[in-house]
Amino acid sequence: MKKILLILTLVITFASQALALEIVKPSDKSSSVCTDSAHIYGTVTPESTVHINSQEVKVWKDFFVHSIPLKMGDNKITVVETQKNGAKKTKVINITRTEEPKEEVQPFIAKEPHTILTAKTIKNYAPVREKASGKSNRVIDLPKGIVLYLSGRQGDYYKIEETGETEFWINKNLISTPTSTDSRMPIVISAPEKSADNLYDYTKFAISYPVFYTIKQNDKTLNLTLYGVYGGPEAQKRNLEYTYNSKDTILGYDGVYSDGNFIFKTAKNPVIKNPNKPLEGLRIFIDAGHGGKDTGAVGPTKIPEKKFNLAIALKLIDLLQKEEGAIVSYSRNTDVFVDLNKRVDLAKQNDALISISIHNNSLPQGDDPYIKHGTGTYYYNYNAKNVALTIKNNLVNDLKLKDDGLNYKSLVLDRATDPVSTLIEVAYLTYPEEYMLLQEEKFQMEAADSIRKSLREFILSVQAE
Ligand SMILES: [Zn+2]
Repeated sequence: MKKILLILTLVITFASQALALEIVKPSDKSSSVCTDSAHIYGTVTPESTVHINSQEVKVWKDFFVHSIPLKMGDNKITVVETQKNGAKKTKVINITRTEEPKEEVQPFIAKEPHTILTAKTIKNYAPVREKASGKSNRVIDLPKGIVLYLSGRQGDYYKIEETGETEFWINKNLISTPTSTDSRMPIVISAPEKSADNLYDYTKFAISYPVFYTIKQNDKTLNLTLYGVYGGPEAQKRNLEYTYNSKDTILGYDGVYSDGNFIFKTAKNPVIKNPNKPLEGLRIFIDAGHGGKDTGAVGPTKIPEKKFNLAIALKLIDLLQKEEGAIVSYSRNTDVFVDLNKRVDLAKQNDALISISIHNNSLPQGDDPYIKHGTGTYYYNYNAKNVALTIKNNLVNDLKLKDDGLNYKSLVLDRATDPVSTLIEVAYLTYPEEYMLLQEEKFQMEAADSIRKSLREFILSVQAE
């Protein structure tokens, strides 16, 4: 009996040691931020009290989350855990608050007059931006091999020659070294040729070489512009403009170069045969955020975000396949690393109509975890706004979470125009109550079910007339 007690005591001691005071965020003993506050979280021995800089903070089961104001310069933060038996453990970290770095504006250097400056994109998903800055809006992601004419350079960005009110800029690392020539490559473009299959309508233009293009969506209209097209049926014009009108809500659309053609494709709206099963036969892509070496955010007791994302995604995949009869493809169904662009490629290769990326949030420094939390969704293209809004509203209602908004933000997994792409941040790992909920199977199931419900509602709202 004594032996068993001894073993039990040892087990308990080891168990409590495993949960003893540890600061999980910030993960380094000394770190630097430019915000006026920081939050700090970590594990504690159950039933102990915690003081941060002598102020007692709330302990949740076996962890704490706390926000502290920062003064300029060094901020020494002392965390003391007092266990039930009176034993104390102390951890000290330093957070240095610095000024926000200022972005230097470089002068614009125009190309030599009377010469033509040209380069090609050398990477897929090469963003064209509205300003000479990585922080500015993306107009379009270009594929590799697009011929660009440039008018000059500002810092690390080249300005694409042309046109109208919008400026187009591209980072020097995404294009070949620009060269000067005396004349443009002649270009010939054919009249549009239409075709269709089960999933898409296509408009094809035979073209001498791939040029820069943009596609703008206004409700039920898409405006395609192919820039610098001098020859062909539009010989008088500098650019070729093409308008696509739809009687239905516009879902996925894309421009693709293939075998000497520019192909403009638009996804067909689904024809729903059985209103009780609106997702039947539809192609849906589910992305469980992060995975493998990419943990995503890490919670106060070190559970990584990737685990919650996968748990919810698997439940959603199951519901969509078994109960809705949808054709589901996904980026991962195990704990593996998948490159971000590869996820988008997979969604496209599977001809998905909708792509849903599932994440859980963690607060950047400067915000208070007890104030900013809840559920939020993200979109970048107009065609994803409604599905993102529907998902967010249902999650807020079904899971009784705080509304963290319908957010417009450029992210790899919400940037594609085909499929219709949205990213969900179900809940925050930095908010104790949500972090504990995320660990419950029931909550994960409710989240998956709520997303399924939203997809049904969305599809019913956009079915073909
Ligand atoms: Zn994430």
